[in-house]
Amino acid sequence: MSEQLLKWIRPEIRELSAYQVPDASGLIKLDAMENPYRLPDALQRQWLDGLSSVAINRYPDPAATQLHDRLIDVMHVPQGQAIVLGNGSDELIQMLALAVTAKERCILSFEPGFVMYSMIARFAGMAYVSVPLADDFTLDMDSTRAAIEQHQPAIIFIAYPNNPTGNLFDSDAVEDIIRMAPGLVVIDEAYHPFAQTSFMPRLTDYDQLLVMRTVSKMGLAGLRLGLLCGNPALISEIDKVRLPYNINVLTQYTTDFVLNNAGVLQGQAEMIRADRDHLLRQLSLLIELEVFPSQANFILFRLKQANATDVFNLLRDDGVLIKNMDRPGPLANCLRVTVGTPEENQAFMHALEEALRH
Ligand code: PMP
Repeated sequence: MSEQLLKWIRPEIRELSAYQVPDASGLIKLDAMENPYRLPDALQRQWLDGLSSVAINRYPDPAATQLHDRLIDVMHVPQGQAIVLGNGSDELIQMLALAVTAKERCILSFEPGFVMYSMIARFAGMAYVSVPLADDFTLDMDSTRAAIEQHQPAIIFIAYPNNPTGNLFDSDAVEDIIRMAPGLVVIDEAYHPFAQTSFMPRLTDYDQLLVMRTVSKMGLAGLRLGLLCGNPALISEIDKVRLPYNINVLTQYTTDFVLNNAGVLQGQAEMIRADRDHLLRQLSLLIELEVFPSQANFILFRLKQANATDVFNLLRDDGVLIKNMDRPGPLANCLRVTVGTPEENQAFMHALEEALRH
C-alpha cells in the first residue's frame, strides 16, 4: 500500500494497534467475562418458535419501543429517566464521545481501567486523562480531585465494579466525584449482575449522572446491546448521534424474549457469584499468588514469583484460555480469569496448579 494513500489516515489512528481478540477454538474460554451458560432447552425452543415471525426483510423499529419498555422495567430505571440503546455499551461510549468531542476537551478515567474509554477518546479526536488508582486499586481522591480541577473533563467514566481489577469503588468516593465533576459522569455498571449494587436509584439526584448497563455479561454477549440511562434532556442529545437502526431485529426480538424470562439469567448470575466466591477462596490458598477481591465475574491475580506470560502460555497449552494482563506498571505479572462453569473453573485450577509446579 502506498504512503500517498495511507497519509490520509489520521496519525493518531495509524499509531494504534487494533484491539486483539485471540482465537479460542478448542479451548476452555475464560478470557472475556462471558456467562458460560446457555438458555434452558425449553426456553430455547420457545425462542426459536418466535424467531420465524421476525421480519428480517424490514428495517428494525428505530426506537426499539418494545425492548425499550422491557429494559426500563427489568433494569429498574427510575420513573422520569430516559434511556438510549447502543450496539453494546462500547457503542454508547462512542456515542458519548461523539456528542461531546472538541479539540480542547478530554475524557477522564482511571488506570488500571477499561481500555475502550481511552481508545474511543482517541477515535473521537479527544484527549484522554488517566488517573492512577492507589496500590490496592481504590480511588486516590487527592489525585482525582487535582486531575478534575486541572483538566475539566467533559466526561468521567467510572467502571463500577472496575475492569480489570474486579473491585467496587467506595460509593461515597464515587459520589464525591459526581459532585465535583464539571461535565458528565458515566457509571459503567457492566458487571452489575455480580455486584448487585447500583447508582441507578441515584439518577434522580444528579442531572450530570448517567448509568450504563449491558446485557453482555448477563448471558447475551452475542447480541450486542447496551443501554445508557439518565436525564431525558441529556439522553435526547446523545440519541442524535445514534445511527438510526443500530439495534438489529434479531437483537430486539431476542433480548425482549429473554428479559421477559429474566429470572433465568438472574439464576445464572447467582450461580456465577457463588462460584466466583469459591474460586476466590481456592486461589487465595495458593501462596504463589496475590489475589485481588472481586465483585465481578472475573478475578485478577498476580504471580509473586513465576512469570505471568509463561503461566498464561502453559495454561493455554493445557487447553485453558485466560487473559494475560502483564505489562509494566500496576498490572505487572497479573493474569485475569473469568468465572466459568464449576467444571471449567476446576479445569483452570488444575492447569494453574500444574503450571505453578513447572
Ligand atoms: N464496560 C466495561 C467495564 C467492560 O468491561 C466491557 C466489556 N468488557 C464493556 C463496558 C463493553 O461491554 P459491551 O460492549 O459488550 O456491552
